[in-house]
Amino acid sequence: PFDVLVVGGGPAGASAAIYAARKGIRTGVVAERFGGQILDTAAIENFISVKHTEGPKLAASLEEHVKEYNVDVMNLQRAKRLEKKDFVEIELENGAVLKSKSVIIATGARWRNIGVPGEAEFRNKGVAYCPHCDGPLFAGKDVAVVGGGNSGIEAAIDLAGITNHVTVLEFGSELKADSVLQERLYSLPNVTVVKNAQTTEITGTDKVNGISYIDRESGEEKHVELSGVFVQIGLVPNTDWLGDSVERNKFGEIVVDKRGATNVPGVFAAGDCSDSAYKQIIISMGAGATASLSAFDYLVRSQVE
Ligand code: FAD
Repeated sequence: PFDVLVVGGGPAGASAAIYAARKGIRTGVVAERFGGQILDTAAIENFISVKHTEGPKLAASLEEHVKEYNVDVMNLQRAKRLEKKDFVEIELENGAVLKSKSVIIATGARWRNIGVPGEAEFRNKGVAYCPHCDGPLFAGKDVAVVGGGNSGIEAAIDLAGITNHVTVLEFGSELKADSVLQERLYSLPNVTVVKNAQTTEITGTDKVNGISYIDRESGEEKHVELSGVFVQIGLVPNTDWLGDSVERNKFGEIVVDKRGATNVPGVFAAGDCSDSAYKQIIISMGAGATASLSAFDYLVRSQVE
């Protein structure tokens, strides 16, 4: 068996694997797609100490760093079941069952898409999902936020301070965000809120130049000219495969303590799949390190044979 088996090969998983391997213990990584979300990212400017990099370049560095160590990397493999017996068992979609004394779950998350024409085409060309990451790219420009929940309204408030103007498009008849956020939003001079707005298309040529929506009350089609669209209709953790084997919150995020421990002894979690407060590369990497050191501590203390 492995001493530490990491499920997921994004920033959290890579960090966890390196920290484990540096203890000289038997370490494995199972990843559906080594690199994770950063493979879909263009510019990264908030990975501290690196002024600017590109997602695929950072993913290649992650892989290179992991491969410096004796880590058994099983790429393009998807985990489908976790079960705690004497060891923790991870069953893969190909039928193989891996055993490990401890497991770190780092399966990340994915942004929910609107699924309209232009969204995929203009991804990283005006269509963005993370205001902390891409907000500054739209300084002084006009943008829209799709989604009127807490994350959408937080994004709109954040972007209002950087951009020229923010249009919030909410599908329902009311914003769903907390009232304190709504009050703050409505106090801002450069924000327009449109309710009952069904986004139909993100338009552009080589990059985004506008957004079209149907006013669900009047049935009228409208178009707003702008440079950026932030999609904020939910971040979904990749944790369905766990079923009830590990405690998750109502959003599906794995519940962890400050050491990254889950409710199952020997099972840890880190990064976007967990209930950590914010979802960022640097935060995921830190959480991966924490979970890995905790797994090592667990192995020492439990002295599993
Ligand atoms: P992920 O990166 O999601 O990695 C999850 C890993 O688990 C992947 O290898 C995946 O293939 C694997 N996996 C999933 N399910 C399974 C399974 N069942 N079995 C096996 N493997 C599985 N953050 C920043 O800090 N700065 C930025 O500029 C920035 N820009 C972003 C731009 C975009 C377009 C996106 C989508 C995100 C951006 N983020 C940015 C957020 C950042 O990418 C994430 O916070 C970070 O990647 C989370 O790392 P993670 O390791 O927790 O998860």
